[in-house]
Amino acid sequence: MKSNNDVKKIRTACPAHCGIDCCGILAHVKGDQVIKLEPADFPDKRDNRICLRGLSSLDITYHPDRLKYPMKRTGKRGEGKFERITWAEAYEIVVEKFKKVSMQYGWKSIGWVLGGPGAGTTKFGAYLRLASLTQSTRVSAWGYGDAGLPCGSRVILGHQFPYILQ
Ligand code: SF4
Repeated sequence: MKSNNDVKKIRTACPAHCGIDCCGILAHVKGDQVIKLEPADFPDKRDNRICLRGLSSLDITYHPDRLKYPMKRTGKRGEGKFERITWAEAYEIVVEKFKKVSMQYGWKSIGWVLGGPGAGTTKFGAYLRLASLTQSTRVSAWGYGDAGLPCGSRVILGHQFPYILQ
């Protein structure tokens, strides 16, 4: 049995994507697995913090149903039939859809709706940069509840997001 000495403490930032997305945390790592999170230490102790969402981000990270690679639907919508594809194949599909829509309706017709897991502050810049580079549209669903989606998309776009092009 390994001793506690095998646990490394690594200073990092919370991955829980709450929108703040930057609380300093200390990850306890054993082997290749994070086993515990706690607030990182700051010179001003008022900055030492982690909320329940941050603490439970380990459950998200190691949940058996978490998607770890792209899946492509092979059956009808709702049938639950998918096959695993490579990242290269997934990018190709996305690029093709972007090309199709942008050629038909212009880049401005593509909207980046932010909100929910993955839309925290640390990723925000990437979305904005992509929207700026492609001259597409940045749609903010923030302010319509925690995730912004799906309620924000209904208010802004008039339909449930994501809207999948067939
Ligand atoms: S600890 Fe809580 S408030 Fe801080 S970034 Fe994580 S989820 Fe957000």
